[in-house]
Amino acid sequence: MEQETVNKLISDAERNASKEFSELDERALFNQKKVLDAYRNARISYYHFNPTSGYGYSDAGREKLSGVFAEVFGAESAIVSPNIVSGTHALTIALFGLMKSGDLLLSATGSPYDTLQEVISGKDNGSLRDYNISYDEIKLKNGAVDGKALESYVREHKPTVVMLTRSRGYSWRDALTTADIAEAADIVKKNSPNSVVLVDNCYGEFVETREPTQCGADVIVGSLIKNAGGGLAPTGGYIAGKSELIEKISYRLTSPSIGNEVGSYAASYMPFFQGLFLAPVVTKNALKSAILASNVFTALGFETLPKSGKLPGDIICSIKFNSPEPMISFIQSIQYLSPVESYATPEPWDMPGYNDQVIMAAGTFVQGASIELSADGPVRAPYIAYLQGALTYEHGKLAISEFLSRYDKK
Ligand SMILES: *Cc1c(COP(=O)(O)O)cnc(C)c1O
Repeated sequence: MEQETVNKLISDAERNASKEFSELDERALFNQKKVLDAYRNARISYYHFNPTSGYGYSDAGREKLSGVFAEVFGAESAIVSPNIVSGTHALTIALFGLMKSGDLLLSATGSPYDTLQEVISGKDNGSLRDYNISYDEIKLKNGAVDGKALESYVREHKPTVVMLTRSRGYSWRDALTTADIAEAADIVKKNSPNSVVLVDNCYGEFVETREPTQCGADVIVGSLIKNAGGGLAPTGGYIAGKSELIEKISYRLTSPSIGNEVGSYAASYMPFFQGLFLAPVVTKNALKSAILASNVFTALGFETLPKSGKLPGDIICSIKFNSPEPMISFIQSIQYLSPVESYATPEPWDMPGYNDQVIMAAGTFVQGASIELSADGPVRAPYIAYLQGALTYEHGKLAISEFLSRYDKK
């Protein structure tokens, strides 16, 4: 495409999105205040950034960081740790902490995220199933939680944990909104008050002005190399919710005798504090990039989720390309316009744990950080690419423009 055509497509898309953009400004302002207030209330000082070693008894950085996360998420307590290696690890700890032999896990949003399949039903790999914890799922109905099916299931089976996956994963659906989560949690609590509602909150933090813990979820779990780390946290995960449940989970994070009383970090805690502080605005930049993509690709005639004119419930834009060439070209454009390894050209490859070849662009500072601009997808019909992240909106815009300049509509 000619540069002029590209510029016009982008500026038309921005004009179309102006209502969503100003709504996002308001949300970011609200969330920024929420985070700022938590830091002021906790009286954060330089002392809390200091590294620690060994057991990390009375590690003030760890304690304060957990405290501010809990306050920001409206939770009673939280575990926030660089010792949690990823979102999958955080979810694994939470599931094992909340359940024991004979218990039942229900996923009310269909299949959970890909990397949890082995955690739940693997054979002889230390999965929940190996420990005699059973699993069931309720399929989504038209992309939403099937309230009727959920109601009768929980009434009859009283699952120990009901899990909701907020984000879309590699499936063609919109993310759940916090209103959807509130509705599902309410159904669970009315029909099985002792069931724990656990939300996989990956990609959902700061997208709205409340978190699932403020509308019915007992526990939320996420990764620090996504929204909540603000692009600066170098690693880690969090688990937040009711104190009594977080305590149980802490015995799985470390050991039943020491729980959350230990854990040191030999580097500075500063990037975690700084990252959470930036997270509301970084998340806004990612959301604006996703909305720009949804408007641009809709104008080109591709189907997207969220649809243009709709605010997403997570930071992702799914684009249905219908053939492999534009999908691959799009993902290669994202890599080409990355600050790190821009010279590399991603190709589809056989990634462990996936049935189809996957192609990924992630020229990110923090390896694999998907709050930074990144795009990926399994190379199978209907050739859907998932675009997420962008530390700055300008970066998202430049990368989408790069794809357009390569694109020739036949
Ligand atoms: C990213 C993600 C996870 C965890 O993945 P990690 O790569 O282990 O951090 C889990 N669930 C969802 C919905 C995710 O997006």
